[in-house]
Amino acid sequence: MFVYLNNKVVPAAEAKVSVFDHGFLYGDGIYETMRVYDGVVFMLDEHLERLYRSASFIGLDIPKKIPDIKIAVYETLQANKLTGAYVRLTISRGYGPIGLDPDLCKEPTFVVMANEFKNYPKPYYEEGIKLIISSVTRNFKEALNPQIKSLNFLNNILAKIEAKQADVYEAIMLNAAGHLAEGTISNIFFVKDGILCTPSVECGILDGITRGIVIDLAVKNGIEVKEGAFTPDELYGASEVFITNTTMEVMPVRGVDKKEFKAGDIARLLLKKYRHEVDGYVKEKKGEGPSLWE
Ligand code: PMP
Repeated sequence: MFVYLNNKVVPAAEAKVSVFDHGFLYGDGIYETMRVYDGVVFMLDEHLERLYRSASFIGLDIPKKIPDIKIAVYETLQANKLTGAYVRLTISRGYGPIGLDPDLCKEPTFVVMANEFKNYPKPYYEEGIKLIISSVTRNFKEALNPQIKSLNFLNNILAKIEAKQADVYEAIMLNAAGHLAEGTISNIFFVKDGILCTPSVECGILDGITRGIVIDLAVKNGIEVKEGAFTPDELYGASEVFITNTTMEVMPVRGVDKKEFKAGDIARLLLKKYRHEVDGYVKEKKGEGPSLWE
């Protein structure tokens, strides 16, 4: 396995970062996860746009221009001979003496990791997964905005520990007002009276790229969408529930706490449309030249 570290691809065993790296010491940094279909990084521009947004929120100067980041991503995929993969791009504040001041670090650390994508078990899509509502409150957006895709994931990890203890796949966090926010690595949707509901960005969530695509696809297919502030009781009263993220795409939910659901028609339809969207994207990008993935 090979990893892109700073300016080149190196064997994974040589991809080492200092213990003085502020990503390690303070979680000071940002990341993106992307999915690769048939050698094409889906929504690469959108992910890089969000990466730059995260960087600007934390005053981090990304040490590379967008075309160079794209080359680094594709070089990593090529080095690992991957066509169906997930890619993680991490940028930390970099090496520096102990202390919070970001100016202690002269050069951000830049890493691209790529691994083979292993499909989720089929029953996850056919029957759905289980969730809990976590007792862990989502970071207050005025304190640490979930729109920053930061390396500091403890808020989510605490909720994930609860999910594991409850033997379920994902935990949904509420915001400080008690409204639904998001999962530890996903956005949540539910259907009520035929309307597709999902927490608005104002609720303090990451505006997931999959979430955005799913909302557009729903509207295009005549499904009314409502973004807003919803309570757990509204979720329990839903006719169907699903979660979204880059690797899961659209994953139906069969239980939230003690409430059971059936994998529903809207989730099925949106998953189908999402995959169609992916196919179209891959065809289009493969047709673009000069190609980085041939
Ligand atoms: N919320 C959180 C907290 C996440 O970590 C993720 C995964 N990146 C998402 C939502 C879904 O975002 P996306 O659809 O862009 O993968």
